[in-house]
Amino acid sequence: ETNEMKLEFDSRPCNESFARVAVASFMTQLNPTLEEVADVKTALSEAVTNAIVHGYQNEVKKIHIECHIQDQVLEVKVTDYGVGIEDVELAMQPMYTTKPDEERSGMGFAFMEAFMDELEVESAPGKGTTVWMKK
Ligand code: ATP
Ligand code: MG
Repeated sequence: ETNEMKLEFDSRPCNESFARVAVASFMTQLNPTLEEVADVKTALSEAVTNAIVHGYQNEVKKIHIECHIQDQVLEVKVTDYGVGIEDVELAMQPMYTTKPDEERSGMGFAFMEAFMDELEVESAPGKGTTVWMKK
C-alpha cells in the first residue's frame, strides 16, 4: 500500500520552511525519530534553496514536490523548470558552486547525500531539474 502527496508553490524563500514542515508532517505516519525528521528537513531545504537560487535565479516560478511512502520508506522529488544543470556529476562534487560570491559553499548536494539514504539528480539545460531522494 502506498500513500502520496503533491505540493506546488512559488519559489519564494519564505516558502522554504513551509515545504520543510509539510514534508516533515507527512512523514510522521512513519513514526520517524527526531533525527530522521531533521535529516529530511535539512535535505529538503537544500533542494528547495537550489531550485530558488540556481534553477530559477530568484525569479518567482513554481516548485513541485512529490512525496511517496511505501514499505516504511519515504521518497521525495523536488522539481523546478528552470535553467537546468550542464554537468550533474560536476555539480554534485563537494565544494563545487557556480555562485562562490554569494556565500555559497557548494555543499548542498553533499548534505543531501549525507542526510538521505539515496539521491539522484536528473537535469536538462533549459528544461529544469529533479532531485529524487529516499529515506
Ligand atoms: P550551497 O548549497 O552550499 O549554498 P551551492 O548551492 O552552490 O552552495 P550545491 O547545492 O551543492 O551548492 O549545488 C552545486 C551547484 O549545482 C550549484 O552551484 C549550481 O550551479 C548547481 N545547481 C544545483 N541545483 C540546481 C538547480 N536546481 N538548478 C540549476 N542548477 C543547480
Ligand atoms: Mg545549494
